[in-house]
Amino acid sequence: MPGQQAGGWPPRECPECRKVFEPNRANQLFCSSQHNADWNNRATARGRVLTPFSIVARVTRDGSRGKPEEREIGRKASSRHRALIQEYRDEDRAAGRMEWAEYMIHRHRLGLDTR
Ligand SMILES: [Zn+2]
Repeated sequence: MPGQQAGGWPPRECPECRKVFEPNRANQLFCSSQHNADWNNRATARGRVLTPFSIVARVTRDGSRGKPEEREIGRKASSRHRALIQEYRDEDRAAGRMEWAEYMIHRHRLGLDTR
């Protein structure tokens, strides 16, 4: 195993542009700091929108638990959550970005997010 400074890590694919690049660090995910920022800023912005819908959908089990008013808002939250996920997925595909499941596998293989 090479150390952090040794170099020689195998080329890998950038999740943002899908270009194969030579990493400078063992756990380098993106080809450039710009693509790292682009991916993560977009994920942060999407997360701010998704989180309330995600939590309400989950705690109401997609609108099947709670008082009638909670079920109603739970169904709406669940529907909006699914629509947003699809919208983001379509955007990512159109832009030629890595699929999210593939991105998670990629991170896991590099020893990130292994829990
Ligand atoms: Zn890139």
